[in-house]
Amino acid sequence: MRFQPKASHFINGEYVDDTTGAPIDVIYPATGEVIARLHSATPQIIDQALNSAKSAQADWAAMSGTERGRVLRRAADIMRERNRDLSIIETHDTGKPLQETLVADATSGADALEYFGGLAASLTGEHIPLGGGDFVYTIREALGVCVGIGAWNYPTQIACWKGAPALACGNTMVFKPSETTPLSALQVAEILVEAGAPKGVYNVIQGYGDVGASLVTDPRVAKVSLTGSVPTGRKVYAAAADGMKHVTMELGGKSPIIVFDDADIENAVSGAILGNFYSSGQVCSNGTRVFVHKGIKEAFLDRLSQRLANVKIGDPMDEEVNFGPMVSENQMNIALGYVEKGKAEGARLVYGGVRIEGDGFYIQPAVFADVTDEMAIAREEIFGPVMSVLDFETEEEVMARANNTEFGLAAGVFTKDLTRAHRIVAAFEAGTCYINTYNLAPVEAPFGGSKMSGVGRENSKLAINHFSEMKTVYVSMNDVEAPY
Ligand code: NDP
Repeated sequence: MRFQPKASHFINGEYVDDTTGAPIDVIYPATGEVIARLHSATPQIIDQALNSAKSAQADWAAMSGTERGRVLRRAADIMRERNRDLSIIETHDTGKPLQETLVADATSGADALEYFGGLAASLTGEHIPLGGGDFVYTIREALGVCVGIGAWNYPTQIACWKGAPALACGNTMVFKPSETTPLSALQVAEILVEAGAPKGVYNVIQGYGDVGASLVTDPRVAKVSLTGSVPTGRKVYAAAADGMKHVTMELGGKSPIIVFDDADIENAVSGAILGNFYSSGQVCSNGTRVFVHKGIKEAFLDRLSQRLANVKIGDPMDEEVNFGPMVSENQMNIALGYVEKGKAEGARLVYGGVRIEGDGFYIQPAVFADVTDEMAIAREEIFGPVMSVLDFETEEEVMARANNTEFGLAAGVFTKDLTRAHRIVAAFEAGTCYINTYNLAPVEAPFGGSKMSGVGRENSKLAINHFSEMKTVYVSMNDVEAPY
């Protein structure tokens, strides 16, 4: 039990254990070894966490934005100081190479804490002058207790992307990580307390989907922010609707990357690699349908294969390794199943897709060419390192095909023709678009999906609107005129 935390849950400013809940074994994906054992929250733990968040909320909201922001910014500094330790935990939790976690996980979590910490003091309502001296002012108010439910691919980042804007606005949070990766959110909670967050402001409880489900329907909860798959999103959105709760849904995708024949091929290949194989392909916004103009298809595939020869698969703790295992045996089997489906459907496997024997959940990155729109590998979210390359001839044709999906999370275009690039992004049915790059998600920019890929936006000033609401106050400076 190399990474055994002090307890499974973090409630009211301290670690809380209760071993009566169902066990959650944390498996290191590189070796298959159990590195920690936690327990799912019982109804009593869920109740305790919600009570703690509820009791802390009014006092937290009553603090000035400057004071709340200071806590968040201090937490960001602590996260950065401990980046290496946090990255090692994240690598053990997810299997992602240390080369990645050192630059993309605690660091992006710290960015969110710093950004929303900086915004906290400037969150205000407005003054609206009316005729005759009357006026309206609006008060930006916290929603109350917010629930965050996370996926397993970016556990630290998700815990902070939800927690930082929620806390900045004066809400408190109960966060439930995915049971596959329960370790990092506890670190975030501990750091927030160290940074001065009052007890109960940020709580973490573990559990499977049933724990998430009971949080969503609890009357103490005002808002639910989920990162997960579309099927889970549907359930959570419907459950939240009953209590008319606010929601943010960050869901899955099957995003297109379009590469025109005038594109810089090297950059397009880099974009396709980043958009398919970073984090072993377990990224929601991945551009897994790579539409390449027929005229450059073979050149693109040749260069991609050459570049893939440099992939270094292995021990994720070795900083030279740039491709780690999948998060779990189940996720590896899903990806391998899609490789088989792709072959059976007649796509041409031009690279990889083979399981690497051993105890870890390793699969080589896979590239399919000659993929057609109806194939399962081109329609369904795989959430693994399986790239589909599809050919196209005209802009009109490729746009129709790129948008022909229920998802709308992200989309990218590679071309040197700027007019075309802007025309394409205007036509993309996606929340997050890229021109001549792919998959960057800085905290300053809104992130989220259209269509089935989500509701609401994370990051940027827009996230504030999803964690607060306006109270309108009409002030009369005149006598009240009534008809009788
Ligand atoms: P899941 O949808 O399976 O689970 C997401 C979270 O919801 C988990 O914590 C899960 O708990 C919980 N959950 C499951 N059922 C319910 C329920 N009925 N009520 C409340 N909570 C529930 O997603 P994965 O964890 O497998 O993550 C992969 C998915 O996440 C992919 O589809 C991916 O695209 C998406 N994703 C989206 C991102 C975005 O920003 N748009 C970013 C990252 C991932 P448990 O795990 O215990 O079942």
